[in-house]
Amino acid sequence: MFDQIAGNKRVKDVLKRMLDNGRLPGALLFTGEEGIGKKLFALEVARTLNCRTPRNNEACGECGPCQRISRLNYPQRDDADEWNQIIWTDHPDVGLVIAPRRVLRVEQMRQIEKEANFRPFEGKARVFLIDEADKLNDASANALLKVLEEPPRTSYLILITARPAMLLPTILSRCQVIRFAPLTPDEIETHLTRSKEIDKKTARLRARAAGGSMGRALSGDLVTFTSQRKAMLKVLNALVVSNNRAELLRSAEQLNEAQYKDEFEERLDVLETLIRDAWMLSLGVKSSQLVNEDLLSELQPIAEKLDSSRAANWILQIEDLREQLIVNINRKVTTDALFLTMAGDVAAQKRPKVR
Ligand SMILES: [Zn+2]
Repeated sequence: MFDQIAGNKRVKDVLKRMLDNGRLPGALLFTGEEGIGKKLFALEVARTLNCRTPRNNEACGECGPCQRISRLNYPQRDDADEWNQIIWTDHPDVGLVIAPRRVLRVEQMRQIEKEANFRPFEGKARVFLIDEADKLNDASANALLKVLEEPPRTSYLILITARPAMLLPTILSRCQVIRFAPLTPDEIETHLTRSKEIDKKTARLRARAAGGSMGRALSGDLVTFTSQRKAMLKVLNALVVSNNRAELLRSAEQLNEAQYKDEFEERLDVLETLIRDAWMLSLGVKSSQLVNEDLLSELQPIAEKLDSSRAANWILQIEDLREQLIVNINRKVTTDALFLTMAGDVAAQKRPKVR
């Protein structure tokens, strides 16, 4: 049942309408960030199509087909042959391919074409998920085109990607695109407490650390997140409250230390949410709207001294830095520059006003 999956109400409505009217397109493309449930939704579509005892046109979740479709049997890590083929669920009509290495292979697409042309063995429809569809290269995309153009009436192809811009136009144009939104912290929290029986306090913290991704909320490391917030809160304090440049440069240095190398971008994310929170507080937004609501007492003194235009500038500067990271600049130099520019705004603001 779609209501068992967190978030993306609009996507649920769209898919449900298509399924209700029997007008589900044979080729779908699910796009949106990692970890927000695209694959779960795709499997739910497969369940809805094959459920033996549907309720209100939705999968019951309990009959044999429903249960078996939920079981995907990933091969052993080193079993190269198995990864090069369709990975079936426990249901003979529902399977998935994923890139064994950097690309989805021609053989995989040929197998999908062949299998899609069979009538369903057991259920009412055959459903094939193509995960990481951005890894189709020219050759494998070509091998997929024909079946994508006109899938047999009882077969459905669902392409899944977090990077739709990487897809060839020929692929994009043949799919109905369904866009998934990141989950809100509330949606994640509710799901964690209700479905995963995680206690409320932990769920709240995990929801905040997740940046819209249920995947990250479930796997994320709370200890790391807590220490990241502490470090970035220090930066914000040095910028706004104490105007302490030495502290700021120490933080920039720490951000570039080898042990935090992999966390660099996460830390930037955290810094950005803290800036936004302090900014919102300074505008009188209710504390329940904050991402870091539990840090209210630390954020309050920052908010009192924070100027809106400075906060807006900082967010732009962080965005700039993110873009520069893509072209692989020297992190150390750029982080120092970022923090000093941010501090520069403080200095400028503190200059006495000309009367
Ligand atoms: Zn069922």
